[in-house]
Amino acid sequence: MSEQRDHGVDGEHRGGPSGGRVLIVGGGLAGVRTAVELRERGHDGPITLLGAEPRLPYDRPPLSKAALLGEADGDEPLVPAADLAAAGITVLTGRRAEGLRPADREVDTGAGPLPWDRLVIATGADPVPLPGPAAGAPGDTGGDGGVHTLRTAEDARALRAVLDARRHLVIIGAGWIGAEVATAARRTGCPVTVLEAGPQPLAGTLPAEVAAPMRAWYAEIGAELRTDARVSGIGTDAVVLADGTTVAAGAVLVGIGARAATAWTAGSGLPLGSDGTVTVDHALRAGLPDIWAAGDCAAHPSARYGRRMAVQHWDDALRAAATVASGVLGEPVAHDPVPYFWSEQFGRMLQWLGAPGPDDRILYRGDPADPTRTVVWLDARNVPTAVLTVDRPRDLAQARRIIERRTPLDPDRAADPELPLKAAVRAP
Ligand SMILES: Cc1cc2nc3c(=O)[nH]c(=O)nc-3n(C[C@H](O)[C@H](O)[C@H](O)COP(=O)(O)OP(=O)(O)OC[C@H]3O[C@@H](n4cnc5c(N)ncnc54)[C@H](O)[C@@H]3O)c2cc1C
Repeated sequence: MSEQRDHGVDGEHRGGPSGGRVLIVGGGLAGVRTAVELRERGHDGPITLLGAEPRLPYDRPPLSKAALLGEADGDEPLVPAADLAAAGITVLTGRRAEGLRPADREVDTGAGPLPWDRLVIATGADPVPLPGPAAGAPGDTGGDGGVHTLRTAEDARALRAVLDARRHLVIIGAGWIGAEVATAARRTGCPVTVLEAGPQPLAGTLPAEVAAPMRAWYAEIGAELRTDARVSGIGTDAVVLADGTTVAAGAVLVGIGARAATAWTAGSGLPLGSDGTVTVDHALRAGLPDIWAAGDCAAHPSARYGRRMAVQHWDDALRAAATVASGVLGEPVAHDPVPYFWSEQFGRMLQWLGAPGPDDRILYRGDPADPTRTVVWLDARNVPTAVLTVDRPRDLAQARRIIERRTPLDPDRAADPELPLKAAVRAP
């Protein structure tokens, strides 16, 4: 951080000549990394980071893992306060953007407007609430432990209290968050029931044949998984299913996805997609002059995959911050990484890379029933478009190079788990 100390807040950065005032709305990973990148790469104007949460930006992945087990606080700053101050980055916490006026170059907040010459929108996403009239109505407590979502350090703290009290946790949604929280809750000794509207875990994310073996993982840790279980409401001590049955609950976690937190831009003319994401171009410019968007709140067009993508994973937010910093500095570059994320669940490390097309075929390295396995998606030319590994970091690392270079594989060799994946690369 010594470089940043060259840019003290009391120094020449107030209204620096070349940089202009950069306002970053959203104090998460994408926001704080954009601020730091800008300063490290020479932006000499004022940088203000506005965040709705009452604390400095922190990392979210531990919230569904170590923080629930008491192994991490869950709100350790991504960049220490002293380093932000030394870099001349002003952080306004506990203050929410409430409106955007592009013509005036101002963002409205409860404590007055904030001016900008360049604006970066990095407001992330909010948990999707349970649809339906009964859910969330007054008196719906989901048991004394309450109804929870998991996005913030406060959410994690509240959920940890549920785990510490060993309540019967009913998790709505067998997605990534549901699986991770089920793992932590079982580890602390809570009875766990997971209700999934689809026919298998990760329905809608993975094809049925790939996700099917994951059903056994729930049973392995002693969590009850009920699929085709559509929730119609949450009562005082039970969850009600569409077929009228009830599931007793000491507390409820709703984990059914996240939606871009962009409602505050309504009426500004900022182009949004039907899913609420900011519609950005390849360099993450948001369609209005001098406005960029990064991270979970944005969807970028991918030349690599020929479609617009809202990735909503940690790695993309980090890379997008670097892309936006380049653009703000007048050196636009294309944001088109191979999507990557990881999930730690049921004592396993899952890693995902890429984005399969609808007609790609699935190839298993070894026995499809082997829980420690690698799944590869191949296009018509046998070029891998995506890979899912379970406890196979070496496959993941080799697949990254192969996918990035779009190298075709010999399917027979790729299917042999005894051979390194890179040994299946076909000579061009
Ligand atoms: C519990 C959990 C576990 C995860 N685990 C993984 C994982 O294992 N692997 C992985 O790849 N990804 C994981 N992710 C996803 C990853 O954390 C996100 O992709 C990443 O945090 C996105 O960063 P961001 O900066 O775009 O958004 P965020 O981190 O959501 O930050 C946005 C910030 O903007 C603030 N904000 C919103 N609206 C306003 C407003 N109007 N005014 C001011 N501020 C506002 C929010 O309060 C928030 O602090 C996880 C996410 C969660 C919630």
